[in-house]
Amino acid sequence: MAASSIYVHIPFCEQICFYCDFNKFYIKNQPVDKYVEVLNEEMKRVISMDEKPSIETIYIGGGTPTALNEQQLKQVLDDVNTLVRNPEQVREFTVEVNPGEADRDKLKMMRAAGVNRLSIGVQSFNDKLLEKIGRGHSAQEAVETIDLAKSVGFENISIDLMFGLPEQTMEIWKDTISKTLELDVPHISAYSLKIEEKTMFYNWYRQGKIQPLPEDTEAEMYEVLVSGLHDAGYTAYEISNFSKYGMDSEHNKTYWKNNEYYGFGAGAHGYLDGTRYANIGPLPHYIKAIENGESAVKESHEVPKTEMMEEEMFMGLRMKEGVRADRFESKFQTSYYTIFPEVIHDLLERELLYDSGDSLHLTKNGKLLGNEVFEQFLLVY
Ligand code: SF4
Repeated sequence: MAASSIYVHIPFCEQICFYCDFNKFYIKNQPVDKYVEVLNEEMKRVISMDEKPSIETIYIGGGTPTALNEQQLKQVLDDVNTLVRNPEQVREFTVEVNPGEADRDKLKMMRAAGVNRLSIGVQSFNDKLLEKIGRGHSAQEAVETIDLAKSVGFENISIDLMFGLPEQTMEIWKDTISKTLELDVPHISAYSLKIEEKTMFYNWYRQGKIQPLPEDTEAEMYEVLVSGLHDAGYTAYEISNFSKYGMDSEHNKTYWKNNEYYGFGAGAHGYLDGTRYANIGPLPHYIKAIENGESAVKESHEVPKTEMMEEEMFMGLRMKEGVRADRFESKFQTSYYTIFPEVIHDLLERELLYDSGDSLHLTKNGKLLGNEVFEQFLLVY
């Protein structure tokens, strides 16, 4: 199936958060205009103007796209639009926004360029906690950005939250959930903290300066989240993603359904023609490669069928709709029971999976032990 999604990476941030291991750079003194220029060059090399693809979803992420000024961001959006055969067919066009970085003019410009969804990095509505995790905005700025976005006509807004943060109490978490609900946005993503290498948090953790929350507390926070959002009318359509009716993120479903997509920009990942690839991450190297007429791809990996089947299982199980038997069979000409007989039977017996007749799903316990379940599918080959 041809790729119908585009991801574009903008690797700049106004402030570096203490937990973040994404490919990003503090924006001050960075060659942002040059980046915008070579990014366009990379895109045009991969997508021929004579054979523009039919694109259904576009996602501009980072870093933070809104760290760019209005003119730079407009250039990126215009450049992406020129790659698409028919911009009217794009169902979902998302830009990640950091609170306080998008004024009315920037938001209006985005709408005029076809953006119809914003993903806003709120993380918490507690100012002390925001400071402790290195965010560069206050809770009030997050509320103002969301109100402003609504006032210029954005209806499809997603809020990102984090839990399991050092010093985050259950009370703080419940307060953040209730403030989120007051804002009445149609989509919420919530991720637990993972202390990753090459982050400030990792250094502090090794030095004993911060402690992650106990696993039990984190699991309890997740349960509070799931039940609070369920009562407010949200569906947990994926382990970490919650939506009001019809407001799932179509772009992110591309990843969970294991479909192919274009990935552009420094450190971006993509999946085309059965090959997963990662672009060069460091900014000067990425820019130099493009300027020298070389590929931006640092490494690529042709995905063997066995690996595709593993991915189909553990990515698909993240979603409420689960892994559909007919979809698996039409993709691989065999059934998942034939490929993973023991693993599936074991997980069914342990009540971590259930079979609804036409698809496999995680149970409530399976969701709590998600990674343990997913790993089982990796042990087969
Ligand atoms: S979390 Fe977002 S804003 Fe913070 S450093 Fe990472 S990419 Fe930048």
